[in-house]
Amino acid sequence: MRDAAPETVYLKDYKPFGYVVDSVHLTFDLAPHATRVTSRIAFSPNPETTDRTFFLHGEKLKLIRATIDGAEIAPQVTPEGLTATAPDAPFVWEAEVEIDPAGNTALEGLYMSNGMYCTQCEAEGFRKITYYPDRPDVMSTFTVRINGDLPVLLSNGNPKGQGAGWAEWHDPWPKPAYLFALVAGDLVATEDTFTTVSGQPVALKLWVRPGDEHKTAFGMEALKKSMKWDEDSYGREYDLKVFNIVAVDDFNMGAMENKGLNIFNSSCVLASPDTSTDMNFERIEAIIAHEYFHNWTGDRITCRDWFQLCLKEGLTVFRDSQFTADMRSAPVKRIHDVIDLRTRQFPEDNGPLSHPVRPESFQEINNFYTATVYEKGAEVIGMLKRLVGDAAYAEALDLYFARHDGQACTIEDWLKVFEDVTGRDLTQFKRWYSQSGTPRVKVTEDWAEGTYTLNFEQTTLPTPGQPEKLPQVLPIAVGLIGPNGDELQETTVLEMTEAKQSFSFDGLPARPVPSILRGFSAPVILERESTNTERAFLLAHDTDPFNRWEAGRALAQDTLLQMATGAGEPDADYLDGLRSLMRDDTLDPAYRALMLGLPGQAELAGLLADRGITPDPMAIWQAVEHLRDAQAQALGPLLEELYEANQVTDPYRPDAEQSGKRALAGALLRLITRRDGGARASALYTAADNMTLALTALSCLLQAGQGEAELAAFYDRWKDDRLVIDKWFMLQIAEATPERAVSVAQALTEHPDFNWKNPNRFRALFGALTANHAGFHDATGAGYQLLADWLIRLDPLNPQTTARMCTAFQTWKRYDPARQAKIAVELDRIAATPDLSRDTSEMISRIRGA
Ligand SMILES: [Zn+2]
Repeated sequence: MRDAAPETVYLKDYKPFGYVVDSVHLTFDLAPHATRVTSRIAFSPNPETTDRTFFLHGEKLKLIRATIDGAEIAPQVTPEGLTATAPDAPFVWEAEVEIDPAGNTALEGLYMSNGMYCTQCEAEGFRKITYYPDRPDVMSTFTVRINGDLPVLLSNGNPKGQGAGWAEWHDPWPKPAYLFALVAGDLVATEDTFTTVSGQPVALKLWVRPGDEHKTAFGMEALKKSMKWDEDSYGREYDLKVFNIVAVDDFNMGAMENKGLNIFNSSCVLASPDTSTDMNFERIEAIIAHEYFHNWTGDRITCRDWFQLCLKEGLTVFRDSQFTADMRSAPVKRIHDVIDLRTRQFPEDNGPLSHPVRPESFQEINNFYTATVYEKGAEVIGMLKRLVGDAAYAEALDLYFARHDGQACTIEDWLKVFEDVTGRDLTQFKRWYSQSGTPRVKVTEDWAEGTYTLNFEQTTLPTPGQPEKLPQVLPIAVGLIGPNGDELQETTVLEMTEAKQSFSFDGLPARPVPSILRGFSAPVILERESTNTERAFLLAHDTDPFNRWEAGRALAQDTLLQMATGAGEPDADYLDGLRSLMRDDTLDPAYRALMLGLPGQAELAGLLADRGITPDPMAIWQAVEHLRDAQAQALGPLLEELYEANQVTDPYRPDAEQSGKRALAGALLRLITRRDGGARASALYTAADNMTLALTALSCLLQAGQGEAELAAFYDRWKDDRLVIDKWFMLQIAEATPERAVSVAQALTEHPDFNWKNPNRFRALFGALTANHAGFHDATGAGYQLLADWLIRLDPLNPQTTARMCTAFQTWKRYDPARQAKIAVELDRIAATPDLSRDTSEMISRIRGA
């Protein structure tokens, strides 16, 4: 059956529900194809409205019976839910439904993964479990009884009782249904305890399938660090007797913050030195922190409606970035975040999928779990903190928690606490939540008699639905450096509010070199005429670690853009600057590794398109190869010297210090391989005693056109470890030359281990293909066709993952007419698929439409 014409939901249409829910009792009688869910829900009229329409969401449910105050009723049932006549007084609703968890391949609601029952209810999955007002502003306490013949039966809150074949849970904290969770399976726990700041003991349990116990230690440590950090940094204490984490293999998202029972994609929690890379460890630490921090920013204070998603996500991403900066290196974290923002958010913000941090309408909310809502949402909070200062930020957060605990809130509530604490009017700042597109800031400067003036002009290009743009509030952090390299002006934050604005600095002994947008103080595109000499000067002298990196990045970027358009050779200033930085032992190895990095090929394509030049993916790939060769040439014997100096001899630890050294040594080895043909990489592969080194060596070998035997050995060794085999799939496509990428991917789709119904495996293969820029954009269109074939195949089973993978096409308008025509054919073919899901259909029409 096809959905009716997709309905658009608007922020401006918000109305409260006619009833409040006083309590929820749920009983689950588990059976793979016929689970019975019995609900007993106490409703009473909502004093905030007189509208007593009683509509309960419900999808794919078989209604057995429904009663109001014990009397059987015959509600009107549609595919979206049911409507009944309800009293204008407190009453008890009871219903019994039957659902089919084993037949649920969309991984939303209650479903099965390797014989284990689990749930994913955000955003609108609870309605696939039972009839309920499935909206975040309806909050209630939940009591849950699970009957089933599995050894472990878990739900939210504190355990209430258990026996053979049953368990009961009670969550005393009112929550929306999207935070409901249930897990039942044959699981084993790693246990620990945490004592909160007020002396309350909390039992911590990390549940995995038998055989994965050795991969839980790191996650447990990360959890304890997160709990401590949230007490120290935000004064937030945990509030239940237990905290459960469960690892699940089949999961659409990274992880989910269900109250007291976080559910994780196994790739985001399981870790061991043998099977995980340093990057995996860092990511796992951050995701565990993120989900834990949601306990306050998301669970205790939730969103009024899904338009406010950034209220919990922007803030929680910002908090997890602060945590990682504290645990590891703050400059390195900031650079990683900005690379990520430019890779994922800028193309979204400047393409057909552009939407505000707080969208104003949607057809399918699952399509708005985006880099804009999450990452730009976090940048907006960073700007707010920079504008009001650290002390006022802390005070505003205290007020937010005190004022809104237990509530479902809006962006207006969030900004009001800042206005109340600081006395500022944040009306203009609020545009960051409603205006889409990345602001561009043009900078010119004047110098006369000791006075230096910076002139800024901001513009934002039109985006879908928003032809006209207004000036934003921009905190622009600036420092000034004298001709001898001394800092003449320490970092100061200029607050830009007008379309055009100038700021002057008096009494300077000489014309300075400006360091603008230090720490990437606003998520904007900076446009300023600069020379390579000036950039090389900043690369050598800037005291701001972000801008120092940015100076090197700009040099590399410009030389690559020139090379990609056939007009240049690798820039000498860049290579000289790089050589002196590499020699600078006072710089953190992780930072030097970032300095060796180059802008991504998709990012370069975007920059060319921005300058009115149609990008040629193959030419960009060749430019990058050429510059890599030039780096290897310019660094020469220094490569091997530094490689030796950055070997780790201590036993493996995934901490900042060791992983920084491995990151630098790995980046150096990639360049060394260009000189020695893979001799050192081969030696490293043989000697590697952890996954980071093994994978580095293997990717170097593949890049050098070798490694067939090693790849086969790697597969044999790890064929029973699904997370490592994901890497095996990914690596071969990532390291394939553009000419081979599609055929390698195509061949891998025929591999017996290509279990395409598993989102991790699907993403490993197609995520790697679409990230291989020149390979995916192969002129024959074979990459587009392969992806479209598989999206069409996956959509009926898993609309969410399909819709997300469609974003690979979002930048299609930047390419040449021949490629555009080939992509249009594939988009139209997907759109014409019978019974296409609402998720995918919305994504394709937005991408195609612009
Ligand atoms: Zn989150």
